[in-house]
Amino acid sequence: MRTLQLPTGGEMPVLGLGTWRMGEDAKRRADEVKAVREAIVLGYRLIDTAEMYGEGGAETVLGQAIAEALRANDVRREELFIVSKVYPHNASRRGTLDACERSLKRLGLDALDLYLLHWRGSHPLRETVAAMHSLVDDGRIAHWGVSNFDTDDMEELEEAAGGDGPACAANQVYLSLGERGPEFGLLPWQRERGMPLMAYSPIDQGALAEDDGLVELAERLGVTAAQLVLAAVIARPGVAAIPKAVRSTHLKENLAAAELKLDAATLAELDRLHPPPKRKMPLAMI
Ligand code: NDP
Repeated sequence: MRTLQLPTGGEMPVLGLGTWRMGEDAKRRADEVKAVREAIVLGYRLIDTAEMYGEGGAETVLGQAIAEALRANDVRREELFIVSKVYPHNASRRGTLDACERSLKRLGLDALDLYLLHWRGSHPLRETVAAMHSLVDDGRIAHWGVSNFDTDDMEELEEAAGGDGPACAANQVYLSLGERGPEFGLLPWQRERGMPLMAYSPIDQGALAEDDGLVELAERLGVTAAQLVLAAVIARPGVAAIPKAVRSTHLKENLAAAELKLDAATLAELDRLHPPPKRKMPLAMI
């Protein structure tokens, strides 16, 4: 699979798996572990989670699936790119370190590949950045980044980081064909810095898979609407997507979308169906 270069060295796959809504219900846990394990066997390497999802439940599901996959030699740890996030209310200097340790324990890992501040809270950015730097120094995380940061937040972050220590490696925001706001302003800003944008809810939480216009165009191309959307999102330079799926058909479809090449006529048709922004829009959040 194609990868994106991180500004701090290393690379991240252009398509991964989301885990929001996993780990919330003990009755669904076995199916969720099975789905994540299947995803790894199919070839997913980037997996996104957060301490918030199921209040640690999603990290536990992911940890179990990773442990099973490692035991069965489905994958080697260094092939995986695991992302988690700290709650803003935990993102003080000390709180970030403690939250990261709890996440690592649930995941059964020694280190995360990327650790994000989930959204802006009341703790000063300087404190969170200092904690992120010390986690990198201690080898608990390879890279750090943020989520739900608009361009002005990114500018403040740059100032707070002050050029010392490793730079912010990625910003994860809501970007899909239904929500294209970040394509104006934020995405170009990140591209200038070689900083990937991770698109969350890329299928609008499943809704775009049933969008009439997209379904019709997808049928003509012999793909599904979800595949069309994912291929279009990751066709934007510097953008990775992390669709969540539990159903096996969805997992397979979405992974295959990473190899889909859309021609100029299809991209133009998609712009007609879901026009790009013509001016700066406030960042949408789910
Ligand atoms: P998605 O846009 O990824 O949609 C997920 C939904 O779409 C699920 O119901 C899934 O069904 C369904 N689906 C998946 N693939 C297909 C397909 N090929 N055809 C039809 N339906 C499909 O929404 P999410 O909100 O889950 O976003 C993805 C991930 O992004 C999250 O899981 C999370 O990791 C991250 N995220 C981060 C946020 C942040 O603040 N940083 C906020 C929101 C999300 P099923 O599961 O039944 O297969």
